[in-house]
Amino acid sequence: MYALYGAGQLGRDNADLAFTDPLTGLGNHRRFIDKVDRLISDRADDPAPFAIGILDLDGFKPINDLFGHRAGDDILLQVAMRLRAAMDGSSVVTRVGADEFAFLYPLVFSEEAAGEKARMLIEILSAPYDVGERTARLSASVGCSLFHSGDETTELLLHKAETALYHAKRSGRGRVMVYTREMEEAAKRVTRIEQALRRAVSAGEVEPYFQPIVDLKTRRTVGFETLARWSDRDLGQVSPVVFIPIAEERGIIGPLSQLVLRKATEAARNWPSDLFLSFNLSPSQLVDQNTGLHILSILDRTGFDPRRLEIEITETGLMSDPASAEKIVSDLRRCGIRVSLDDFGTGQSSLGRLREFHFDKLKIDRSFVSSILQDRPSEHIIRAILAMCEGLGMDVVAEGIEEEAQAQRLIAFGCAGGQGYLFGKPADRDDTLTYLRRNILGTVPAEPV
Ligand code: C2E
Ligand code: CA
Ligand code: CA
Repeated sequence: MYALYGAGQLGRDNADLAFTDPLTGLGNHRRFIDKVDRLISDRADDPAPFAIGILDLDGFKPINDLFGHRAGDDILLQVAMRLRAAMDGSSVVTRVGADEFAFLYPLVFSEEAAGEKARMLIEILSAPYDVGERTARLSASVGCSLFHSGDETTELLLHKAETALYHAKRSGRGRVMVYTREMEEAAKRVTRIEQALRRAVSAGEVEPYFQPIVDLKTRRTVGFETLARWSDRDLGQVSPVVFIPIAEERGIIGPLSQLVLRKATEAARNWPSDLFLSFNLSPSQLVDQNTGLHILSILDRTGFDPRRLEIEITETGLMSDPASAEKIVSDLRRCGIRVSLDDFGTGQSSLGRLREFHFDKLKIDRSFVSSILQDRPSEHIIRAILAMCEGLGMDVVAEGIEEEAQAQRLIAFGCAGGQGYLFGKPADRDDTLTYLRRNILGTVPAEPV
């Protein structure tokens, strides 16, 4: 058969194949680079800018897992067809990764126009997909960059679009970001924090702090929430609001969490045995089936009674893989560990979740508590949450109580538990012991040396 083709013909076919994505028939990564290279050299003497973008499907992996790989391929084909149909005569779309597409808009000259085009693509992809008898929905994130001056390379342009994509992904699903220089700075800072944090975790330098949780009426301390604290030589004190998401994103959360839990249970095992210790679990830990085992082995090693431990999880943590989260949570509960739903009322609240999962406790988010004195809606929401918890047999803790008047209002509504600066700020191991000696006099044995 090969004899029928001249060598030149065969060469061209192979070259075409090398530039084509076999699944969708779109151009592939090499085609994209080639197109951008050519356009850059065409524009050598022409100051007109142009735009590129990288589009990444959000949460495609669960779709693959849920519907199977063949259905996954089918959805990718439908995505490719929609994207191709959305291109005008001059623009090009290619498939550059498993669920990543890149597009080139030679006639888009501004950041605003690039963002608009990208938003249109996201809109087109958001319509439902047929998968046999069922339908699936997808969202996508896009990062764009603009070619401006003559000295920019394809590589640099792609790097900028990837940086913008990274920021789009970080800020949630279905977002479009166009590259700015500040993004580069922010991405560098994240990398700096990641490196310092890796070192700190291996050196055991992240510490647990403890914040009291009280019975609102009697003001008796009933337990403590563990909160991670980290101070770096160069970066100074870094807030967990900053380093916890980075630890999650860069795969350091497991070791970090184990370190903090080990230190926290070592500190708390000598406290009065009726005090519980609560501990935060991140969403990615509820996807990792080793989490339960790690927690139990730490409790075993430190000799901390599992019945004194509570884990706090958020609704976001239950969303990405509910079956996995359910398994981890039920394994832990079987060993006597209690489970609270943290930050209730923010984010993706769904009352359905309270039917599917059993929680021992619910924590009302600080945002409601801080506005309870000024704001009628907050008051009504808190009352409704309290009534619901009573019906479902869950304990309640209101978070972020800073003023006595807030505590009084919560007591009047029937809220039993409270936490906040009014009762105590998070404190290290030694200060917590002092706090305990002062508040629960005589019940704390001296620390063994
Ligand atoms: P969170 O679990 O909602 O923790 C409560 C946060 O509210 C803590 O912030 C606490 O210091 C703060 N807070 C408590 N009372 C008050 C108050 O009266 N007023 C105000 N303004 N704030 C109050 P922090 O320690 O900065 O922690 C922030 C978040 O970082 C936590 O929110 C939690 O989501 C996460 N985090 C902290 N430590 C860990 C950890 O060891 N593992 C994981 N996965 N996440 C952690
Ligand atoms: Ca918490
Ligand atoms: Ca909380």
